[in-house]
Amino acid sequence: MRKYVIIGVPGSGKSTQASILAADLDLVQISVGDIFRWNVQNHTKMGAQVRRVMAAGELVGDDLAEAVTAERLAQHDWNYGFVIDGFPRNPRQAEFFLESYDIDGVIHLDMPDSEVRRRVLARRLCANCGVDYNLIQSRPATEGVCDVCGGNLVTREDDTEEALVVRLREYHEKTDPVLDLFRRKEYVATIDATASKDEIQQAIRDKFALPPYEP
Ligand code: ADP
Repeated sequence: MRKYVIIGVPGSGKSTQASILAADLDLVQISVGDIFRWNVQNHTKMGAQVRRVMAAGELVGDDLAEAVTAERLAQHDWNYGFVIDGFPRNPRQAEFFLESYDIDGVIHLDMPDSEVRRRVLARRLCANCGVDYNLIQSRPATEGVCDVCGGNLVTREDDTEEALVVRLREYHEKTDPVLDLFRRKEYVATIDATASKDEIQQAIRDKFALPPYEP
C-alpha cells in the first residue's frame, strides 16, 4: 500500500504528476479541487455553496473540505493506495489528516511564483472530458477544440489574474506551514517543478524508490 500527498503552488503540475503516478502504480488519484469543481459544474447544493469562494481563489471552509476528503477516502476503493492533491491545505486540515491516515510521504512540487502566472494564465481545460492544455507547451491542434474528444476548451473560473493573486497568497500563508509541519513528521521530497514532465516524474520515482518511469 502506498499513500502520498502531493503539494505545490497552483500550476505546479500536481494533477499531471499525480495522474501518471496513479495510473502506473494502480493508485487512486484524489483531487479535492476536482470534487468541488464537479459539484459546481453539476449544480449541486454543495456546488452552489463553494462556487463564489473558489472563483475568488479563496479556500473553502475546513469543515466542508474535511468532510469531502473523509467521505472520498471512506470509499476504500484504494486497494494499492492513493495520491491526494489539494488536501491538506492548512495546518488544521493537516492535523485532521494525520490523525486518520498514515502516509508514506509528501511530494512537494517546488516552483517560483514568477513561473506560476505564466503557466496558469495559459491553461485551458476541455469542458467535456477534462483534459488539460497549455497554450505555451501543449497546444491543441485546433484552437479551442479538444484533441481527444472535440469538446470546447475553457478557462477555469479561478485561472484569472485576480484569483491567482489570492490563490498564491492563500498558498503561502496557509499551505507553506503545512509543509513545515509535515517536515517534522513525515518524509517530504522537494522536487524542482520547472523541469520537464518526464523528468519530474522520474525524480519522484527516485526519491521514493519507486519503479523507474517509462514514458
Ligand atoms: P490549485 O491548487 O491549482 O489552486 P485546486 O484545483 O487544487 O487548485 O483547488 C481549487 C480550489 O478548490 C481552491 O482554490 C479552493 O477554493 C478549493 N479547495 C480545494 N481543496 C481545498 C481544501 N483542502 N480546503 C479548502 N478549499 C479547497
